[in-house]
Order: sequence, then C-alpha cells, then structure tokens
Amino acid sequence: MPVVLGIEGTAWNLGVAIVDDEDVIVERADAYLPVSGGIHPRDAAQHHADSIVGLLRQVLTFALEKGLKIDAVSFSQGPGLGPCLRTVATAARAIALNFNIPLIGVNHCIAHVEVGIWKTGASDPITLYVSGANSQVLSYNRGRYRVLGETLDIGVGNAFDKFARSIGLPHPGGPRIEEHARGGERYIELPYTVKGMDFSFTGLTTAAREAYERGVSLSDLCHSFQETTFAMLVEVTERAVAHAGKEEVLLAGGVGANRRLQEMLGIMCDERGVGFYVPETRFLGDNAVMIAHLGNLQLKARDVTPLEESGVNPSFRPDEVRVTWK
Ligand code: AMP
Ligand code: MG
Repeated sequence: MPVVLGIEGTAWNLGVAIVDDEDVIVERADAYLPVSGGIHPRDAAQHHADSIVGLLRQVLTFALEKGLKIDAVSFSQGPGLGPCLRTVATAARAIALNFNIPLIGVNHCIAHVEVGIWKTGASDPITLYVSGANSQVLSYNRGRYRVLGETLDIGVGNAFDKFARSIGLPHPGGPRIEEHARGGERYIELPYTVKGMDFSFTGLTTAAREAYERGVSLSDLCHSFQETTFAMLVEVTERAVAHAGKEEVLLAGGVGANRRLQEMLGIMCDERGVGFYVPETRFLGDNAVMIAHLGNLQLKARDVTPLEESGVNPSFRPDEVRVTWK
C-alpha cells in the first residue's frame, strides 16, 4: 500500500503530512498569522520558507523511525497565492529529486473534496466548498469536477475576514463573527445576491460595515451577516442538488466549521431527504492530509507530474483537472 507525503501552503497554513490508504500517519503544521491586517502574500511565503525545513525534518524523522518508505510527494499546484505556491513547489521538487520518487501536483480545491469523501464515507456528493479565497459548488460528472456555481467576487471566508477587520476584530474574523452572532436577535436586512447558480459578497460586506457605522449592535449585525451569506449558499447548494440529481451534500473548506452553516445545510438536506456529510474540523480548513490523500489517489492512477510540468498556477480551477482516479 503506497505511502505519500503531501505539502500544503497555498495561503495561511503550512503543513506536511504522510498518509496511506487507511489513515493519516503523521501531520505537522505551522500557521502564519499576520501581524496586522489580512494575509500579506510575501510575508506568508517568507513564513513558509522559514518553517518548511523544520516541518519536513519532523515528519521524515518520524517516517524513518517507523521504517516507512515514502512512495511519492504531492503538493498544491494551485489555486493560491503565487509566492506561497512557489515556495512549497520548490520544497516538493527537492524531496522528489532527493529521494528519487514521483512528484504529484494536485488541485487544492479537489483535495478539499476528496479528503471529505475519504473521511466521511460520502460517495458522490454535491460539495459546498467554502474557504477564505474560494467558494464553489462542485459536482463530479463524466471525468471532471464541474463548477456548478461560484462566487463572482470574493470567497465567503474573505468576506467574513474583511467585515471583521473593518470593525476592528482581529484576523481571522470568521470564528469571531460566529461567536458574536450567538448573541444576536434582530435581523437587519443586507444585500442578498444570487444570480442563477452564482453569488457575490462584496456589496453585503460593505453594507454590513456601513450598518455598524450607523450604530447597529455588533451581535445583531454578525447574526444578520451569517444568516444572509449562508442563506445564499444553501439556496445554490439546494439548486445544484436538484439539477444534478445527487443524493448527498458534502461540506468542505474552513468556513464549514461554522455551526450555523452546518445547521442550515442540515435542515435543507433533511427536507429534501439527501445525506449530509461534514468531516472533522481538522479536515475542513487547509491541511496537508488532503494534499497527501489526493496525491495517493493520483499515484495509484499513475497520474504523476513530470518536473517540467510542475510549475504552479495561482488560478488553477478544479474543472481543468481530468479526474484519473475515479
Ligand atoms: P481555508 O481557506 O479553507 O483554510 O478557510 C479559512 C477561512 O475560514 C477564513 O476566512 C476563516 O475566517 C474562515 N473560518 C474559520 N472558521 C470559521 C467559522 N467558525 N465561521 C466562519 N468562518 C470561519
Ligand atoms: Mg482551501
């Protein structure tokens, strides 16, 4: 059974993990936290460059002590922040050359989906993938993950972080907004933008900041922010389920940790009689296990990446990938 080492570092989280078909063997991560404001791409890349050797040493020492042989190394080829992607790709190439093992570039969005399938036992879901930079509704069909719906501007996590920052809450704002929302009672109307299967968040984020400046209470505003953004996401996910005729919904991405989003999606799924799957929180946000796992799936399908094709792609879309492992 293959043993694969995966490296993730598209944005805030640098992680290294080793997995096999059955489980996670070891995982180490080191998160970048901006000193002020949001994620600065070059600072984040510098953080990754400073910690990657230490993390690799820890997991490789662990593997050595267990007598494990690494069969391949996988990394996030995109999407993500260019400087961060390049740092991680360089480390992955060095490992591949040093151990003379295959290199496997994976799509970060698809890795979120595949780890969810692996860890929950879902088989062919509609995935709502909601993270900092990306928000998409994905569905597997005839050899590709199709993007049925997506954000027309920023990811929903980014909308949470931006709104939080604009009212003085520290980064990352998502968990703080969830906390404040628990005390909210009054619903303040905010722009609700769904266009067909797509959605957008910037107008809503600006309107929420303006409402705060007008003196609306923080908890009512956080409550309304969540109710509005999540209603948009649930509406589109439900439409995708109906159109694609699927019987499962999978939640993926860091925003998936939000209890209210889980609850709202769960209600929709119950009403439609479809299964609802959420992996443990550690597999929702960016993590190296998902990169190692998709690397393992691709390795078994002999879908590896020649060195000359291992360049990164900051705007790599999931529907560009020919799925070789299903
Ligand atoms: P990812 O890019 O998938 O690692 O997800 C990171 C994003 O998830 C950030 O924008 C966070 O603010 C957001 N996030 C994390 N936890 C929560 C939460 N409980 N509610 C809303 N957003 C969250
Ligand atoms: Mg992500």
